[in-house]
Amino acid sequence: MQFIDLAAQYQHLKIKIDKRIQTVLEHGQYIMGPEVQEFEQKLAEYVGVKHAITCANGTDALTLSLMALGIGKGDAVFCPTFTFFATAETVSFEGATPIFVDSNPDTFNICPDDLEKRIVDVLAEGSLQPKAIIAVDLFGLPANYPALEALAEKYNLKLIEDAAQGFGGHINGQKAGSFGDIATTSFFPAKPLGCYGDGGAIFTDCDEYAELIKSYRVHGKGKDKYDNVRIGMNSRLDTIQAAILLEKLAEFPVELENRNDAANRYTLQLKNTFKTPVVPDGYGSSWAQYTLQSDERVRAMADYKAQGIPTVIYYGRCMHEQTAFVDLGYQAGDFPIAEKLARSVFSLPMHGYL
Ligand SMILES: *Cc1c(COP(=O)(O)O)cnc(C)c1O
Repeated sequence: MQFIDLAAQYQHLKIKIDKRIQTVLEHGQYIMGPEVQEFEQKLAEYVGVKHAITCANGTDALTLSLMALGIGKGDAVFCPTFTFFATAETVSFEGATPIFVDSNPDTFNICPDDLEKRIVDVLAEGSLQPKAIIAVDLFGLPANYPALEALAEKYNLKLIEDAAQGFGGHINGQKAGSFGDIATTSFFPAKPLGCYGDGGAIFTDCDEYAELIKSYRVHGKGKDKYDNVRIGMNSRLDTIQAAILLEKLAEFPVELENRNDAANRYTLQLKNTFKTPVVPDGYGSSWAQYTLQSDERVRAMADYKAQGIPTVIYYGRCMHEQTAFVDLGYQAGDFPIAEKLARSVFSLPMHGYL
């Protein structure tokens, strides 16, 4: 069996997707064609926000958000150390300093108590200005936004939701992609809502941020792309990818239910053998990954492999353990929970056609 079966999804949607692609080939508006606008509207409706702005990938979505918030040199941006590299990479890319935070051992997400300690430390140290928090909806489960929003308000920080994995999750019905000042997602093929290449989106209720992001994604455009009022980038979603995503978004609620059914069956069967993932009351996960914890991970993964079941480790190395961040000066033991997770997690096959 496959870890993520993209072919099964394509077979299921083939007639609709082929037709959508053919339409784009016929009208020929490959960049910012009508499907892009149609998809942005449907996306905003699904998430329940005023603005959904598509871009080239989930990493650019984070970069564009940081640009809109005016974050740069001398600023501290807090993010989990147990995440995918892009979360922290974009902070450094913008010239700001990522400040890593430990995780909650049950939800895998950023720990609000540790976050407050790190904010207080940065304030006491005095060389960096605390500016923003990037929370990640790791493996599909929204982070603890009630607690994070309270801390953002208390310390006057902007809050970005990295919903690259969280798209489809919710807290008491409020959808992932709608938390914080700005939220981002990715349409990388393996994400809960993926396209057939790279893609991403940014969500916000704020008109001012939306206008800035639309400008930054097309060379800092003013009236048009030949009137350049700020330094931006070239980061658009291809029309063909938007066409594919329109059909995938229409099918997404069914797939999400299938993912939840699969996760519930996994938990029922495995809860006495491994530490199974915890979904707090009122929360819903999109199950980007179904992730177990075991002190005997090597043996467990070998057992699955022997039965033809692929498993993958997300993530075997925390951000503070990455070579690229050596200069930040963190040490082994600085994030005990995240380090333990990195040594004990592994994920089982998960997709909407399991
Ligand atoms: C995948 C991912 C990204 C980056 O998305 P790309 O589309 O691959 O650039 C950012 N953050 C998290 C948490 C991710 O999982």
